[in-house]
This record gives sequence, structure tokens and C-alpha cells, in this order.
Amino acid sequence: RNWVPTRRVDSLCPYCGVGCQVSYHVAGEGAAQKIVFAEGRDGPANAGRLCVKGRYGFTYSRNRQRLTVPLIRKPGIPKGVNLDPADPLAAFREASWEEALDFAAAGLRRIKDAHGPHALAGFGSAKGSNEEAYLFQKLVRTGFGTHNVDHCTRLCHASSVAALLEGIGSGAVSNPVRDVEFADLAIVIGANPAANHPVAASFMKNAAERGVKLVMMDPRETPLARHAWRFLQFHPDADVALLLSMACTIIEEGLTDPDFIAARTEGFEAFRDAALKYTPERMEAVTGIPAATVREVARAYARGPNSIIFWGMGVSQHTHGTDNSRCLIALALMTGQIGRPGTGLHPLRGQNNVQGASDAGLIPMMLPDYQRVSEPGVRARFEALWQAPLSDTPGLTVVEIMDAACEGRIRAMYIEGENPAMSDPDLDHARAGLAKLEHLVVQDIFLTETAMLADVVLPASSLYEKTGSFTNTDRLVQLAQPVLPLPGDARQDWWIIQEMARRLGLDWHYAGPHEVFAELAQAMPSYAGLSWDMLEREGAVVAPKFSAAEPSQPVLFQQTFPTASGRGRFVPVSPLPAAELPDDDYPMVLITGRVLEHWHTGSMTRRADVLDALDPVPWCGMHPDDLASIGVSSGGRVRLQTRRGQLELEARADEGVRQGSVFMAFCYHEAAANLLTQPALDPFGKIPEFKYCALRVSPA
Ligand code: SF4
Repeated sequence: RNWVPTRRVDSLCPYCGVGCQVSYHVAGEGAAQKIVFAEGRDGPANAGRLCVKGRYGFTYSRNRQRLTVPLIRKPGIPKGVNLDPADPLAAFREASWEEALDFAAAGLRRIKDAHGPHALAGFGSAKGSNEEAYLFQKLVRTGFGTHNVDHCTRLCHASSVAALLEGIGSGAVSNPVRDVEFADLAIVIGANPAANHPVAASFMKNAAERGVKLVMMDPRETPLARHAWRFLQFHPDADVALLLSMACTIIEEGLTDPDFIAARTEGFEAFRDAALKYTPERMEAVTGIPAATVREVARAYARGPNSIIFWGMGVSQHTHGTDNSRCLIALALMTGQIGRPGTGLHPLRGQNNVQGASDAGLIPMMLPDYQRVSEPGVRARFEALWQAPLSDTPGLTVVEIMDAACEGRIRAMYIEGENPAMSDPDLDHARAGLAKLEHLVVQDIFLTETAMLADVVLPASSLYEKTGSFTNTDRLVQLAQPVLPLPGDARQDWWIIQEMARRLGLDWHYAGPHEVFAELAQAMPSYAGLSWDMLEREGAVVAPKFSAAEPSQPVLFQQTFPTASGRGRFVPVSPLPAAELPDDDYPMVLITGRVLEHWHTGSMTRRADVLDALDPVPWCGMHPDDLASIGVSSGGRVRLQTRRGQLELEARADEGVRQGSVFMAFCYHEAAANLLTQPALDPFGKIPEFKYCALRVSPA
């Protein structure tokens, strides 16, 4: 067959929050069409660049495991993950769309009628478009009658958003990634952009090469550290102590910006009094970082003149994740390093639409645009817009929903495009909760580990097959265009959600994503100035945009903060230990994360042939001395055990991993890292502590 491309479609990358614009070159006709190659477009976020996932990761869209027909579980088949690896579809029979949708909706109605609306829950997707996220949360709130709706931000940046909303009134980034080009110093803490935001990492590396002081701060040495001016490899649970010792230095040495503090902030005195207790000298044994190095970095950050902070899940996925972000916000506020190009706060978003899905309301305590469920005026506005009553009770978060499922309080769920049977902490517990549900509807493109536990599976669309708007980490709203036809009888996600809504008694008649977007812009003040025509015309528009006439603001907070007082707020914190510390039985620490070639739970990249060929087997990274101490060579097999589970996999020597800790990614279904992780939550963001638990390692 001749696979010479005959047409080009401009769209987006389906993976990370950088939001690279991509041209896909397509060959073939009809159902046999396929993408032959991808190249970067000159988008605002990528300037023509792509990483290995964007360039080679598209083949999952035509993987033979794609779901192409609705499935209903056969009677009497037990629920479990990988019960029949040779034929995972054996538990299901094929069904028509009419039968599958009727069956799905009838099960949800049955549970609601018998046990009330709060026995239902929905888990939406940050891989879907803004329109799909908006429709999904609207369905749960008005069709189910509950706010039990969440998405992967709960496992990602929920603690960062909690701190940002509290401190500066907005959960979004203040400055785009490429502002690193205008910075004099850039801190990257708890993030591995070379693996997880590779095009962003390339701009950081270029900036470092041009003289920007790049400060990498992480318990693990990752590739970008090679380009760093300073690399601070701190102990894995010592981040709050380290950041407080930086704040202490800045205050002690008179490097704060008193004018900015007086004019634009509140609460500094209480934070100052708390921070002054944690001198770098006193914290040296806690953090593992020499006091002189902390003082040097703190001085350079404060003096800038322009300093920016990027952070990732190494900051957010702790029981003290919100405190970590409070410290980062305090550093920016006390030095006035915010509100100008080359400064500010940038939590690097994970999935390609986690910003947009959060904006659109896939959050249990907030309606679209972070408007609180608990406020009667907010509820009244949405009740008028949606012509439906709303519960006054904020919903449960992802991990709370799993606990409630295990306890029998949640009895039915609708999960769209997410894979909690791989991504939740303490997987045995999460999978038991999913299996115990009386009715589970899963809408996805593959039979994921979560779909294996479903009663009905609805075959959906990949990004390559849909039209929709997506909001990247920089707050850029961009349009995806269909590149390929839907495979088999798979359907658009927005269409499936609407069909479910109709069967639950809602009178929905959206003609397509453009009509959903028009309503979304009506519901969300920060998107009110956006329109579908504008997105089609301009390709990418920065949010927030409160009116069409208002210019976009790539740099926020230049004059004021969107808080009640208009001021940024300091919140005092003190260091707290991780929820589970090493002991004689479990003497090491497990840190989970991601790798360059695979994305999150691996449901897409493990089915993209080039990416899976590059990284085909589960592995963990250990310091060579730790490997030697148990008599295992690099490439040998080890057993990892925690109080929740155990698994075996290949161990690779990595001098970048601190002695006493083990790193592994959570993308491998054969050795699922989250069988080991523990579910203790940050009390504010309700995010689990994926970055720290006690571990025992032995030869396998
Ligand atoms: Fe895709 Fe992110 Fe890579 Fe860009 S950096 S090509 S958005 S995975």
C-alpha cells in the first residue's frame, strides 16, 4: 500500500499541558486513513517544536485494541482487572448504541431512585475538550442531582490550586512558560520537564544557555539539572523546610520588597514570624542542603531582577502540598516577583486540558469558573441558566468517592476517559471500590483497567477524531480539528454525554461543540470574551478574556489580584512530616512519577508502537550503592513492598536517585506503582501523597 500523505490537518498534541500545535499528514481513504507523520506548527507554545510523544505518539489512534462497538458485561462474570489477559473482551458482549445507552441510563436511574442522588458520582476527563468537560459536569449536577464530579486535577495540582485561590485569587498560571526568556533566574522545583513537558524544558534549556540562572530543586536529579546554575537535591519530604529557609534568608538579609508588600499584600507579619524560625543553618540537617547554598539561591531569586518559579507534582503530591505552594506564593509576594514579564508562578499542568477541564467545572466544590457550590447566589445563577435545581452540598473528590464506593455509599459511577484503576493510590482499595459498584458506566477509547470493571462500556473518540477547544498550561485556548474518521461505531464524547442526559430526562439539543462553547462562555465570566468564531479565526486566544474588546493578558496580576481585597495573601506554614515515614520494616522511600515516552497510566502511549518500543518494560531507578547493598546488578529484578502491596520489576542503577529512595513510573499495568502508594490526603487540596511512602526492597 502506498502511504504517501495526501492531506494535512492542523490540530493539537493529545498529551501534555504545553499544548503544542501540530500538523498531521494523512494518507489513505475512508476508514483506512492513517496519520503518516506529524510536524510541529509555529504555535505560541511550541514555535514548531515537538517532543517524542507529539512526533511519534499518534499511532494509538489506530491500534487494533481501539473500542469500536458498545459492550455490556455478560451476566454472572466476576469483576476484576486482567482476569483473562488472553481475551479481556471475553467478559462482555457487543450491543447496539440504543441498547447500551438505555442500559447505562437505566442503571443510573435505578440507583438514584432507590438511594438518592448522592449515591451517584461522575469522573470526567482532562483529556477531553472544554465542551465535553462542561457537558459532563452539567450532566452530573443536573441529571444525577449531585456535585460528586471530579477529574484528574485531584491527583495532580489540586493542592497548588487551593493555595493559589487562597493566596492570589486565581488557580491559573500568572505567566506563560516562554516568559523564562525574559527572566534572569528560573526556579524549577518538584518537576521533571524534560520528561513531562519536554518542549517547555527545551525553552528552559535555551534560556539557561543564554545566561538565565536555572535553579533545579528536586530529590531526584533529572536531565534538565545538567543545564542548571545550581541543583539542590533535597531530602524527599523536606520541601517546606527548604522553602521556609529561603524565605527566612530573604527576610533576615533585608531582601524583601517593602513597597510591594505594603501596597499589594496582606498578612506578611504572621508569615515573617513563622519563617524566621527556619534558618538555613537550622534546616540544613532536615533538607540535606548546605546553608550557604540556600542563602546564595535565595539572594539570587530575590535580586532577580526578574525571577520566575515553575513547579510540578513533586510539590503538589504531598500531604503538605498546599503548604508547599503557599511557600512559593510567599516567596513571589515578599520579593515582588510577580506581575511582570519574566516573573510569577507557573504550576506546570499535566494533561493537555487539565486547565480547561478545571475551568469548565469538573470540580466537586466549584461550578464552572471556580464559582463555589456553597454560595446561594452562584447556585441561583446556574439554576437559571440550566433551568434545573442544584444541590447545596459540595461533592466528594476522587479519592473520597473510592472510599465511599468501598463503604457502599456510592453505588453507581459514570467514568469518562480516565483510568482510576491505575491512577488512584492504594489500587487494591480503589479497584475493590470500583468492583463493588452496582453499576459502572465507562466511556473510553480502550478497554482500560477501569473499563475491565464496568457494566457497560461506551466506545468514544480520541483527540485525532474530534473538534473541540483545549486550554493549555499557559491559559491558551486552542482548537483541535478532526484528523481521522471515528473507528467502527465509536462516537463523539459530547454526543454520548448528550444521549445519556436525554435518557436521564434532560432536554438537551446541542447541535455540536460550537453550541456548547457558546453556553460555556455564558456561564464563565473569564471565557465571556471568547467565541467559537474567534478561536477558528485566531487559532489560540489567551484566557481569561472577560469581554471581546478586552486585550488578552498573557501576564496576570500587573496591578491587582482577583481576591476580595485585591491584595495577595500570605499564609503562615510550618514543616510537617510525610504521612508514612520509613522504619525498620520499610526503611526506604518510594517516589512515583512519569517517564518521557509514556503518559500517565499508559493507556495511550503503551499502545503507540514507537513509544512502547522505546520503553517497553516496567523498571525502577535506584542508587547504585542501594542496589549493591542488596546484591542486585543494574538490570536485575527487585521486589518492592509497602504496607499496601508488592510487585516485581527491573531495577536500573541511577546516581540521580538519592540513596534511600526508589523512583518508578505509574504507567506500567504489569507492575502498577499505585498498588504500593498510600492514600493519605492533603487536608486542603485533598490530593494523595504519591511522592512519599515507606518501602522495602529485596532481590526478586
Ligand atoms: Fe505534546 Fe507536550 Fe510533547 Fe508538546 S511537549 S509534543 S504537547 S507531549
